[in-house]
Amino acid sequence: MPIYEYQCPKCDCRFELMRPLSKSEELGDCPKCKSPSKRAMSRFVSRSKSDLSMLSHMPAGGGSSCAGCSSSNCSTCGGG
Ligand SMILES: [Zn+2]
Repeated sequence: MPIYEYQCPKCDCRFELMRPLSKSEELGDCPKCKSPSKRAMSRFVSRSKSDLSMLSHMPAGGGSSCAGCSSSNCSTCGGG
């Protein structure tokens, strides 16, 4: 089975899932925050209008900690 790369719109982490080609277009759950994530477009700029519309659903500035990510290694909540 091929491996596809996904990027979480919430914590911006990338992860890989092994799944059949028929399911390659389906959303994959982020291993950190369980957010449904679209496939990462390698060799392309990942920011598209659809990504931005998804980002607009995020709670803005909720606090100092990442909303759904329990890891301190998240690119969103890290750097503290
Ligand atoms: Zn995530």
